[in-house]
Amino acid sequence: MVWPAQTGDPRTLKFIFNHETIIPLMIDLKNLTIKKAHEHLVKGDFSALELANAYKAEAVKRNPEINAYLEIFSDIDEQAKAADDRIKAGKADMLTGIPFAIKDIILIKGRIASGASKILENYRATYDATVIKKLKDAGVVFLGRTNMDEFAMGGSNENSAFGPVKNPHDTSRVPGGSSGGSAAAVAMDATLAALGTDTGGSIREPASFCGVVGLKPTYGAVSRFGVMAMTSSLDQVGPLAKTVEDAEIIFNTIKGRDPMDSTSFEMNETRPEKKVIGVPFDILKEGIDKDVLENFNASLEVYKKQGYTIKDIDLPMMKYSLAVYYVIVPAEVSSNTARYDGVKYGLHVDGKDLPDDYLSTRAQGFGPEVRRRIMLGTYVLSQGYYDAYYSKALKVKKLITADFNKAFQEVDAIMMPVSPTPAFKIGEKTADPISMYLADIFTVPANLAGIPAISVPSGTVNRDGKALPVGLQIIAPAFAEQVLFDLGKKFEQSRL
Ligand code: GLN
Repeated sequence: MVWPAQTGDPRTLKFIFNHETIIPLMIDLKNLTIKKAHEHLVKGDFSALELANAYKAEAVKRNPEINAYLEIFSDIDEQAKAADDRIKAGKADMLTGIPFAIKDIILIKGRIASGASKILENYRATYDATVIKKLKDAGVVFLGRTNMDEFAMGGSNENSAFGPVKNPHDTSRVPGGSSGGSAAAVAMDATLAALGTDTGGSIREPASFCGVVGLKPTYGAVSRFGVMAMTSSLDQVGPLAKTVEDAEIIFNTIKGRDPMDSTSFEMNETRPEKKVIGVPFDILKEGIDKDVLENFNASLEVYKKQGYTIKDIDLPMMKYSLAVYYVIVPAEVSSNTARYDGVKYGLHVDGKDLPDDYLSTRAQGFGPEVRRRIMLGTYVLSQGYYDAYYSKALKVKKLITADFNKAFQEVDAIMMPVSPTPAFKIGEKTADPISMYLADIFTVPANLAGIPAISVPSGTVNRDGKALPVGLQIIAPAFAEQVLFDLGKKFEQSRL
């Protein structure tokens, strides 16, 4: 006999009465994956409602400290019951009833979407992003919207207008950014999966700092319709999850050509395997934490043992990636944020006339990092500087892409660390934006080249007696996500 859900420890949701003994049946959130949860849901071991409430209980318990969620939704039960109906009707998809957290930059119709900015604090989305529509069609349960750096500008989550997120592994440290809330929520079992966005590392870096898997798909693989634009030519939506397989399941659900996003494509690049992995060793010579480098070298050994050759490759233009990125990003940010004028939506501050309305609204609505990028971007796009900075950055972007294309003629994938350091301390880099930007050195190149990259947990390094996760980054040619999944799974299996 199965007793109804109990309150209390969310991991001890059900009690089974078995030969007069009461055996607690645990929902083992720590070891749950999408596939396992799906099997349990279909078998009836637990319901979508029980599953959602187990995660919700964990979210409610941990969030006051971690601040991963900006909102935990009040209609979780209704969503979960609808999923249970579908499961009972035998119409379950792999994602039916799977709890998701959504970065607060992706629109869900009728719900607040703030971009973690004061300027959109009370803005309600009037339509679903295409990725949300696809997840709704699959029957997922949305648990809430996650904290992030304001409009995805940042790498530590300290630029949120609603307070920083703390790293669940060490609360004195950042979870990474900008999708830090999504990564922290998965890491602390406050959701089974999450969506983030990655413009220069915002999925992979927090995934690495929090010890979860994060995939930045090929530019164009996933629709950006209904996702607040940060840097339209680089932004991509992708999953944060517990395993590579989970990331693959989510990617396969959200990907595909969308008539509402003219940059989206349906493609699947298959390539004969060469069993060669490229590593740009030259880039790893300086500016990287010793323990992180050691961890990376140990990860390469895993592949050597599996018969892969590690090839030292040259990506000569990669060293310009950050310079290029921090010209292109502010340029597009300055034009993409022009829509927040206090008239169309969001915050409105009354000034003495219309221009003053704009100035007052934007001055009060945007945080310092967003204002910094708007100013830099306006500068690099202005007459006289456009050619010197912006056009030149676009040309170097092409050369960086060409370097990768050349390298991929000889290798299946390229590997490097995700970040040069493990999670840093809250406040450590806030006084010096350049030091914050330097943390993006290994993630930005894949965005500039438009190619897919995944962060897979590769163990921990010790800091102040705490084990801090780090990630291995695997980068593949455009639309060859399958290569990432295959190599990522091999890595995971070797570590079991
Ligand atoms: N840290 C990078 C930045 O500040 C990446 C942000 C992102 O990928 N959205 O721009």
